[in-house]
Amino acid sequence: MSADPAVSRPADGIVDVAVIGAGAAGVGAARRLAASSLSVLVLEASNRAGGRAHTLAGRSGAGIDLGCGWLHSADQNPWVALAESEGFELDRSRPSWERRLTGVNMSDVQAREFGRAFEVFEAKLEAAAAEPDRPAAELFDEITAPWRPMLDAFSSYYNGALFRDISVHDYAAYQPTDENWRVVQGYGALVAQTAAGLPIVFKAPVTRIDRTGSPLRLATATGEVQARMVIVAVPTTILSEDRLAFDPPLPDHAAAADALPLGHVDKCFLALAERAALPVEMMVTGRTTTADTGSYTLQPFGRPMIEGFFGGDLAEALEAEPPGAFSAFAIDELAALFGSSLRRALRPIAESRWGADPYIRGAYSHARPGQAGARAALRRPVEDRIFFAGEACSAHAFSTCHGAYQTGVEAAETVLAGHAPGGGG
Ligand SMILES: Cc1cc2nc3c(=O)[nH]c(=O)nc-3n(C[C@H](O)[C@H](O)[C@H](O)COP(=O)(O)OP(=O)(O)OC[C@H]3O[C@@H](n4cnc5c(N)ncnc54)[C@H](O)[C@@H]3O)c2cc1C
Repeated sequence: MSADPAVSRPADGIVDVAVIGAGAAGVGAARRLAASSLSVLVLEASNRAGGRAHTLAGRSGAGIDLGCGWLHSADQNPWVALAESEGFELDRSRPSWERRLTGVNMSDVQAREFGRAFEVFEAKLEAAAAEPDRPAAELFDEITAPWRPMLDAFSSYYNGALFRDISVHDYAAYQPTDENWRVVQGYGALVAQTAAGLPIVFKAPVTRIDRTGSPLRLATATGEVQARMVIVAVPTTILSEDRLAFDPPLPDHAAAADALPLGHVDKCFLALAERAALPVEMMVTGRTTTADTGSYTLQPFGRPMIEGFFGGDLAEALEAEPPGAFSAFAIDELAALFGSSLRRALRPIAESRWGADPYIRGAYSHARPGQAGARAALRRPVEDRIFFAGEACSAHAFSTCHGAYQTGVEAAETVLAGHAPGGGG
């Protein structure tokens, strides 16, 4: 392994714990271990910490979050305390999805009917969780079916996939609270800052873990790392596509990762000229008759911009097009909503392409129908020395940044419990 002056190694060259991946889960694990007597080394494939938490610096300290933006379940979210201790500013106002703009492509009455249909559908999902698992789309009925395109659009934002691909049991297992806050400087900036000072080697993708002997031998792009234990904190796609292989293989974990694919979700940001008088902090869906539509937050934080959000089949299709496709799609939908003169007031700033990132390959995990048990299977340790973390391992906060962090901390605590003096490790 090439020397990295910023990262010191134990004298025998064998680290106690190697953490693979410096996303929220890997950062949570590494921070917990860094406070212990065990040596730790984080191996990160890309050139930055944060993974799916990634903020671009905007004007005057305003962050643009290409990945996670909302501190979901904020009243229980460990990033809130971290934000406060790191000097980040929190925005505790009600989320924009509770402030839907009506009168553009939906009347107040239609908006209320849709809200009611969503409640009915979610109540059916919850009740069906006591029955054998099945695709959530099987629960559409005469009340909800007329709203199916919009319900599927929302599924594409929440799950990264349409309800036909979503396990009823898994959907019901997600347990958020009602508090959703934001980090003014950016959620990704917060995650990156909490990683500062950790022993991270960047541009070190791990391709193979040889577990035939002891220590474990990790093949990375820049050489071999030997470790007594490893916490694997990479997205499920990396495991199911065999980009990180085990020797001998771990078929149960590969199957679990395959049962928890990452859906597709992307964002685009458009600058809005001052003269365009659009409402502030309001959300509007591009169209109400198709699932292939964007959701737009007008002037988030009061900033002169529009944040577009795209999920499911639409996000996947736009990712396959040349750069600029999300912005072009958004401008077409917004011009149809607010008049074609708006085109001249909009300028693309940034867009994500999470499915094309070779070390991410999607947005967040959902369980395929019948596969809700895969989360428990994925986080099962192997031989008391290979541990798993990441949003997909979370029992009730999967798909989130705080769920990811908590799984990292939990994996580190499992390591420490087994290897404390007298702990049997
Ligand atoms: C568009 C979008 C919007 C979102 N919005 C929200 C939101 O509002 N709120 C919320 O809570 N969550 C949101 N999320 C989800 C949240 O960002 C993720 O669930 C969370 O960040 C995942 O963290 P993780 O540590 O599990 O994985 P990741 O962040 O994916 O980290 C894994 C790391 O492993 C690295 N890696 C991969 N392969 C290897 C390898 N072979 N060797 C070494 N390193 C490797 C990757 O480069 C990456 O840095 C959003 C995600 C997206 C894409």
